[in-house]
Amino acid sequence: MSLGGYVYLVGAGPGDLGLLTIKAKECLERADVILYDRLINPLLLEWTKPECEHIYCGKLPKRHIVRQEAINEKLIEYGKQGKVVVRLKGGDPSVFGRVGEEANALDEAGVPYEIIPGITAGIGAATYAGIPVTHREHGASFAVVTGHDKSEDGQPLIDWKALATGIDTIAFYMGVKNLDYISSQLVRHGKPLHTPVVLIQWGTLGGQQTVEGTLETIADRVRQSTLTNPAITLVGDVASLRTQPSWFERKSLFGEQLLFARTSSHPSAIAKELTTEGAEVFEFPRYSTEKVDSPALDVTKYEDILFLQPESVSAFFKWLRDERIDLRNCRARFYVRSKKSQEAVEQHGCNVSNLEERNERVNFLIIGEEQWSKKEIELTETYGKHDFLVSHRETLITSCERTCERLNEEGRLKTIVFPSAESVKTVTKSFLSLGWTPEEMSKERTVICFGPTSKKAAVEAGYKVNATLDTPSKKALIEQLKLFRNQEVIRR
Ligand code: SAH
Repeated sequence: MSLGGYVYLVGAGPGDLGLLTIKAKECLERADVILYDRLINPLLLEWTKPECEHIYCGKLPKRHIVRQEAINEKLIEYGKQGKVVVRLKGGDPSVFGRVGEEANALDEAGVPYEIIPGITAGIGAATYAGIPVTHREHGASFAVVTGHDKSEDGQPLIDWKALATGIDTIAFYMGVKNLDYISSQLVRHGKPLHTPVVLIQWGTLGGQQTVEGTLETIADRVRQSTLTNPAITLVGDVASLRTQPSWFERKSLFGEQLLFARTSSHPSAIAKELTTEGAEVFEFPRYSTEKVDSPALDVTKYEDILFLQPESVSAFFKWLRDERIDLRNCRARFYVRSKKSQEAVEQHGCNVSNLEERNERVNFLIIGEEQWSKKEIELTETYGKHDFLVSHRETLITSCERTCERLNEEGRLKTIVFPSAESVKTVTKSFLSLGWTPEEMSKERTVICFGPTSKKAAVEAGYKVNATLDTPSKKALIEQLKLFRNQEVIRR
């Protein structure tokens, strides 16, 4: 008997985070446990709640794939424990995703479930490569076909004649190894030798790569390239419609895969902008923020208040509300150290004063994250005599280190961006706990710092810094990334 447990069999789409459905995102946010496949974008795991359990169901080193029966059993077990379970699969769960078997097992066990479709790779990757799978002049039918099956030689048993003569556009999944066989079967059964073919690897992601050819040439061209699975083999006249590069590959930061260091749970506006420009951004590490209750201290007695983080601003105004203190009784000048904190103050209809012009003799309060309460000496040296109040607590969510590990394994951390000296410390701590040294992490990667202070911290920690921005701004970072890209193109 289930105790309110529920299983969601969810399609994660082909890779680009933005291609997830709203329903799928809501499931991820609610999940108590998530069982995920090898091909799903690890960044999706960052959307789960901090205490969500992550279970990997893909290939394991030196071992076989987790058996389907074992996955079914786990889904049932967690479902019966009353948990919200998400089974996350690449693309669409019913396209070569074995969702039918899972649904069947859940039905038999009496565990309720629902299936949430996703964008399948055959359509997603084709679209991002600039190819419409149907077209009024080039393709009136479209089929998804497996390029590999469970027979001994892996060569799929398909009605090749029907496929070759009856279908205009064919998307082969899992077909890279059998490319010779697939092309020769199609030709033997009636598809012209000159039929265009495009292979798209890691479609919709920063690592998207394509190889173009015809049924005659494609197997050789792929052999000469570095392209491997996961890739879609798209066969049909529509493949000739591809522009080189595609609308996606033309984005100014396409191919850029970067780790953006952060010190709070706040998502960065810069990271969002980089994503819009086509970059893949991993904000790291991840924290959960816990608010602290109203302090016993009378905050209205201070003449100057410095907010160390934007969260300190929201905590302060919440305290005022909780204690029913009218803001007009608070005569303090407000000071901040970042643009984000300034915006937070301004949102409450207040202005900030210039910290450098502060009179050190007045009654002074600093409000900040808990860790800063241990840095009293440093704060006194910098800002003078003061009282300190803890506004919130940031706790590292260690599961983000697993995400980091997987991205690194997949070669998806090409650039590391340090916006502050503090972020150098937090990221380095996590790197070291993963067994990676700053020296190692600087190799074959680009390290960018926002200014001289973050550069100093990075160099002291052992990184090789490739660039320091003139101004710590979004624009300067994007310009720098573009510059590196162009240099790389020239070097190639
Ligand atoms: N359910 C998935 C397919 C799973 S089978 C879907 O609907 O997309 C795994 C195969 O999907 C891979 O071998 C590859 O052929 C294809 N695939 C998955 N993600 C891909 C991607 N981002 N780019 C290209 N092919 C991909």
